[in-house]
Amino acid sequence: MKLAPVRFYNTFGRTKEELRPAPDGAVRIYSCGPTVYRYVHVGNLRTFMLPDLLCRSLEYLGYATEQVMNVTDVGHLTDDTFDRGEDKMLVSARLENKSTGEIADHYTAAFLDDIRKVNIRPASHYPHATEYIAEMLDLIEKLIAKGHAYEIDGTVYYDIATFPAYGRLSRNSTDKLIAGARGEPDPRKRHPGDFTLWKAAGGHRLQVWPSPWGEGFPGWHIECSAMSMSILGERFDIHTGGADNVFPHHEAEIAQSEAVTGHQVVSIWMHGGLLMLSGARMAKSAGNFFRITELEEQGFDPLAFRYLALQAKYRAPLNFSTDGLAGADRALRQLRERIAGWSAHPGEDIAKVSEEWESRFRAAIADDLDLPAAMALVAELSRSSVTPPTKARLLTSWDRVLGLDLRRPAPEGSLPAGAAELLAAREKARAAKDFARSDQLREELGALGVTVFDTAGGQRIKK
Ligand code: AMP
Ligand code: ZN
Repeated sequence: MKLAPVRFYNTFGRTKEELRPAPDGAVRIYSCGPTVYRYVHVGNLRTFMLPDLLCRSLEYLGYATEQVMNVTDVGHLTDDTFDRGEDKMLVSARLENKSTGEIADHYTAAFLDDIRKVNIRPASHYPHATEYIAEMLDLIEKLIAKGHAYEIDGTVYYDIATFPAYGRLSRNSTDKLIAGARGEPDPRKRHPGDFTLWKAAGGHRLQVWPSPWGEGFPGWHIECSAMSMSILGERFDIHTGGADNVFPHHEAEIAQSEAVTGHQVVSIWMHGGLLMLSGARMAKSAGNFFRITELEEQGFDPLAFRYLALQAKYRAPLNFSTDGLAGADRALRQLRERIAGWSAHPGEDIAKVSEEWESRFRAAIADDLDLPAAMALVAELSRSSVTPPTKARLLTSWDRVLGLDLRRPAPEGSLPAGAAELLAAREKARAAKDFARSDQLREELGALGVTVFDTAGGQRIKK
């Protein structure tokens, strides 16, 4: 059977392109995953949701998928733009007084728990960088043999001048790369923009491996070349990451993988827009971030975050606020309540009507994963005069892509619709010492059957 064509925006070339998987093969997808030195925040989750939405949409349209997401447990330095600083894993191990293995295990488990909360289905494979050191060494040796890399005192650099396409993905010129690399600590590099493939151990005693150039550890970029090609082969369909991965991470990956193989490896590069908080990128280092568990503790359904993310185009930056999340939470609960009502409602399921709506939904997801359009269709269908059983059946089917648990009954003891929003507003009012507003919000919550009282540790509720 001929599958419907699907188009995705390719960062490389900045145009929408038709997906052309190998005939009868699965669509092969590689995604940059977490560096497991701390908990992931909802900004990271937004980026990890992209391959999940891709796989769900492709499967809905009849394609098979195979998805790899790597787990970085070595080599990601604190300054990844200039490839310097300390290894993030070692910093956490020192601060938490644990081994790097313990750090990796703890945060990998937490990552898997967090993605489950927002219905991100697990990838087919989760390779750990430390399990692919031999493959990385093999690629680095090939790069040296082909004249693309050189060694200085046990550290191996990629010679970017030998790869004329370097800078094409990110549209960086060599001049800009030079300007960007100011303050570079190793003046012996041939070009200030040359990046590290293998780093000499130096003072490191942990997380070091023997190599032809002495003890050391891999650079972050070579990890993804090694893991992607080892598992998916030398040509695969889609590579995803966050917008901040375009440069230097993915630019370097192209230079490595294509220089070794002599051909294009990735067909389509897809990048998720960043999640912003009060105008700045949500980031652990800046301290402006939320974990999904924190939002859950505030009374939000974790899937409200998924709902919020679905309403924005995946490529666009998205501003996060608890007010916005509260709106999504309320809308999601209402939608579930309505669907429960529709499925209980008698009426006729009309196949012909349903086909038209179905083809509009499929067209939306096949057009560069247009989930905002799909969500608009959900709203339009809800308001329409379509019979209740048809509405319920269509929305239940679309939920295979949306992943919002639309058929989940309201849990025993859950907050009534709108309560989370009022609680968040009251928390803000209290923080701003606006007690008149906080009292008014207490009354509104009371009207919903939620009693709120204040303790030294913040507001608490009784239903
Ligand atoms: P890291 O664990 O720092 O390597 O980040 C994991 C992934 O999360 C990377 O692919 C980043 O692009 C992505 N990421 C980091 N911060 C944000 C953010 N504020 N919004 C969206 N994605 C992000
Ligand atoms: Zn990567």
